[in-house]
Amino acid sequence: MKRSWNLLCLGTFAATVCGIALSLAQTASSHSVSVASRVLLSVSVMMFVILALWRPRAMRESAISGKIDGMNAVAKRPDCRFEDVAANEEAKRSLMELADYLRDPEKYARYGARMPRGVMLYGPPGTGKTLLARALAGEAGVPFFALSGSDFVQMYVGVGAGRVRELFKTARKAGKCVIFIDEIDAMGKSRDNQNSDERDQTLNALLSEMSGFRTGDGVLVLAATNRLDSLDPALLRAGRFDRQIEVGLPGREERLSILKLHSRNKPMDEDVDLEKLARETTRFSGASLESLLNEAAIAAAGRDAEKISAQDVREAFYRTVAGADHAITANDQEKLAIALHEAGHALAIRLLMPENHLARVSILPAGGGAAGYSLSIPPERVMLRQEDIENQVQSLLAGRAAEIMIGGEGALTAGASNDLARATELVGAMVMELGMGGEPAVSFRTLGRVCGGGNDGAEKCRKKLSELFDRVTRLLSQHAQTLVKLADALMEREALAGEEIDEILGTSVSNERQVSAK
Ligand code: ADP
Ligand code: ZN
Repeated sequence: MKRSWNLLCLGTFAATVCGIALSLAQTASSHSVSVASRVLLSVSVMMFVILALWRPRAMRESAISGKIDGMNAVAKRPDCRFEDVAANEEAKRSLMELADYLRDPEKYARYGARMPRGVMLYGPPGTGKTLLARALAGEAGVPFFALSGSDFVQMYVGVGAGRVRELFKTARKAGKCVIFIDEIDAMGKSRDNQNSDERDQTLNALLSEMSGFRTGDGVLVLAATNRLDSLDPALLRAGRFDRQIEVGLPGREERLSILKLHSRNKPMDEDVDLEKLARETTRFSGASLESLLNEAAIAAAGRDAEKISAQDVREAFYRTVAGADHAITANDQEKLAIALHEAGHALAIRLLMPENHLARVSILPAGGGAAGYSLSIPPERVMLRQEDIENQVQSLLAGRAAEIMIGGEGALTAGASNDLARATELVGAMVMELGMGGEPAVSFRTLGRVCGGGNDGAEKCRKKLSELFDRVTRLLSQHAQTLVKLADALMEREALAGEEIDEILGTSVSNERQVSAK
């Protein structure tokens, strides 16, 4: 666009010059100027003036959206609004104030109000930080420059800093605007973590550009990070990113509002229960909820169904959490080992953590190389008790416990490695940090750091792990019949939904409980 416009301008300019030259030549030779050359001259002069004064709108916009040295910082006025963001009420309130400021920065300057130059949005990935920043620009009706911190981190010293200056120069041309730097950790990690000249220069350039603004300028820099504590403290000082807004994982009600928002444009069947889905999606981010509904919609469209069914949603849920089912390739003996292992997990979860929602147990290979999985969703808790963590560890060890219980020590499979790693991490935290390893007043981790010298942390963890392993082995052997029954059902049906597991377990678990109580 810009190029052809320039060519057109050049063409008219050339025509004007030709016209003048022609008339001069004619004046010199014949003392009279022909009508044709007069017309040519005046038309070309007129066109040149018009073209120079009138530049199309698209070109004026592209002047502020120039590509910055290989980065994709294209300024757009987003059509996104705060109503497109569900939940996050506190963050929205804080940003609405800033939208008002962007609409009328002079007003704030008149009151002598010092607005934040930078706002740091922090929280887990997928919680809507980018969405909020876009909504702010959309609401204020100003251009939005979006970049990622890694765009600035270059191999060559000085390149990153140059890019920062370039970005601010372009943004200044745009007048009022929002600059959004995603994953700012890449350029603003705590300096003592890793000493890098390049990163220091880039960061310093950002800080000095930010201090160059006045409140009346109406330029707002937003940044996002997953972890506030890993950032260079210089970034968070007054006059820089001095407003920090937490964007956390949604709670149950918030998940419901996100699900409602994203099903607005989708034909959902009446039997889809969004409230139930909101209950079962503990620790899901807004992005995973959106992707779950999207998966369900794709499945329904693939079937040419009239509506998105509860089954579509359930399958999308499994896929989002555990990855898509793959065809089973194991032979019967391997299949039995996997079935026993998963049955061990499922039974322990059901017995030890009845408050968890046991969504599905499967022996079909899933994403991430898992041979099978038991999917259980814990209820939302503010604080975990020792008993909760111990139950979690036992459920993790229950797969291995079931393998040994039925097949003996010789029947160990490689399928338990991830379980063992997670159980060890949990026990490590219990013993080393939480005082749950027998000495309730001692944080062994801190003790080691403060007083130096070795402590027998590893030995303590080991003891705790085998104690919990013995406990869950005893529990499973008390319910050996049910364990085998569940494994058989898995061999036959390969994947069981929560209700099916309850059917198999429900009666036999309570029967066995009665038997063992007698
Ligand atoms: P982040 O920047 O925190 O990683 P994003 O803003 O990129 O997360 O979120 C990705 C997508 O997830 C959004 O485009 C939106 O579809 C969905 N999403 C996340 N949080 C919300 C929310 N609170 N309300 C509505 N949609 C959300
Ligand atoms: Zn396992």
